[in-house]
Amino acid sequence: MANISELTRKEQVLKALMEQAGEWVDGNLLATEKVGGSEGHRRLRELRTEGHDIRERRHPDPDRDIWQYMLVEPKPEGIRHDFVDAYGHTVEGSILTPLLSPGYSRGRCPTCRKTRLFQRLKEPVYVDTVGL
Ligand SMILES: [Zn+2]
Repeated sequence: MANISELTRKEQVLKALMEQAGEWVDGNLLATEKVGGSEGHRRLRELRTEGHDIRERRHPDPDRDIWQYMLVEPKPEGIRHDFVDAYGHTVEGSILTPLLSPGYSRGRCPTCRKTRLFQRLKEPVYVDTVGL
């Protein structure tokens, strides 16, 4: 298969994965004439070696005997777990004292100004540090 694209074969694979970052991509789509070429799977290994976080799994449908790949984009810097009290006030975990139970902390709530029990939010907060 001749590469008729301006991108290298490796760049094609990376681009295809980036366009669906965080989602599983069927492996056979990464080894086509347009993307990756016949050596598409070797390009995947090269991208990994360069530090790209590419996960792989068997297709969840057992009738489809293929692998799937997913690019995990690096987390932004300044990831942070916020906590919430029973009144829905959120605070940064750094001002609280962790308790023995995982995910729970105690501290003074800046909003209601009382010592409260806080529970860690399930989803981390991504703090944009650009420009700080
Ligand atoms: Zn509060």
